[in-house]
Amino acid sequence: MASEAFPIRVLQGWVALPLVAFSGVCLAGTVDYFTDNGYGNPISTMQHPCAEHYQGMTYIAYQGPHEDPYVCAYDHAAKKWRGPVKAGVNPMGKTPDPTDPDAVDNHGRPAMIVDGKGYIHLVFGGHGGHYKLGRNLLGTPGKGKQTHVVSKNPKDISSWEVLDNISPFGTYSQFVKMDDGDIYLFYRHGSHRSDWVYQKATDNCGTFAPPVSVLKHKAQAGKPDIHDAWYAWFENGKGDTITASYVYHPCKSPGHTKERYNGYYMKMSCANESWENAGGHALTLPVTKEYADENTRVCNTGKERSNHGTCRVDDDGHPHLFFRQGPMQIRYYRWLGSAWQDPVVVTRDSRSQDGDMIVESPKVVRMLLSHGHSGAGEVGWWKTTDGGLTWKKGPCLISSPNSRYTPGSLVRDAHPDARIVVSENDRAPNHLYGKLFLLGDSGPIRRPQEEAKHLGDRLKHTE
Ligand code: ZN
Repeated sequence: MASEAFPIRVLQGWVALPLVAFSGVCLAGTVDYFTDNGYGNPISTMQHPCAEHYQGMTYIAYQGPHEDPYVCAYDHAAKKWRGPVKAGVNPMGKTPDPTDPDAVDNHGRPAMIVDGKGYIHLVFGGHGGHYKLGRNLLGTPGKGKQTHVVSKNPKDISSWEVLDNISPFGTYSQFVKMDDGDIYLFYRHGSHRSDWVYQKATDNCGTFAPPVSVLKHKAQAGKPDIHDAWYAWFENGKGDTITASYVYHPCKSPGHTKERYNGYYMKMSCANESWENAGGHALTLPVTKEYADENTRVCNTGKERSNHGTCRVDDDGHPHLFFRQGPMQIRYYRWLGSAWQDPVVVTRDSRSQDGDMIVESPKVVRMLLSHGHSGAGEVGWWKTTDGGLTWKKGPCLISSPNSRYTPGSLVRDAHPDARIVVSENDRAPNHLYGKLFLLGDSGPIRRPQEEAKHLGDRLKHTE
């Protein structure tokens, strides 16, 4: 099923469109960001979701000072912001906050979910778990400790408590909530050389079943210096299914690199926790590299690099995926029912880009992407109406002549006014704090300037 040497359609051109908003502009005492205390790389598509719309409120989690998890909330009816509130302590945080980006781990960013009773859960603080936490049977030690906190009251971000009920050996924590209220926590169970696993909760995250391995790590046969490893992204499929899209990482030691290749897809039926590939053939878990190449590969990129994107399904349950591949390209794939459609380049960029997508029908898909060109950055829509064969640039939600944006995945159950959270990459030379924006169809949701400033005297220590 893998494409060995695929034709790639490239869409040319950079289309200039009217810009909705230039970042940082103050208007009638309001600003387009909701906080300025994002720290390091405060959000990512890999720790997700980082935001959810629930009963009229959009809740947002991000990495703030000391790499700790912070939460804000926006009340759509009252048009009022709350927070940020510190929700826990990241064991990887340092005091004072480093000003060297290389000194910040960033893997402990929070993932967030609202349970069936309205309690808000965050998982954060892990980069595989420190060796002093005990023996990791599914991987190798890392740093920090995967930590679970819950709001003390439903729909209330003001106070939090730790729930000691998940494995500490986690990183890239990801929540998937099902229609019946079951919540799955997926993550990598350690540092690079570790299985990807999930733990299932049927009681609003009160208790989690033991970890179940999905992707297996192992040394390559005959090459003990190279270990098969993975980067994976999990999300709801159609009905009671969960999709997994992933890329392969040959983890070398000595001579370690960030190399990642190929693209893979499979899905789980939650009824019996069984997995199948896109063609409906049952799979045996956990998946090894050889087994994945044979059964779940979407694309073989050869020597060309590949990085994760996201995966969303249409009403037929067929997956639509993108990966970030080759020379800074967003490449789109979809399952046609019996084969993968040849990849199409949606955009190419001068630097890294990321985002997420909404599948309206098998033929109509919209991507919301951070994108850049010649030092400028923007976040905006790209749309196809012919099943991904051609893409057209659509409205821009925010832009800056001298800054880039990093997005999270789409806000879960998003309100149209609040579809995605992005962080601004442009930083002062003497600190690592940055602004965060909540973007929707009308651009950023604004906030009174005095409410959006949260650095206090922190910058005094960095001058
Ligand atoms: Zn590695």
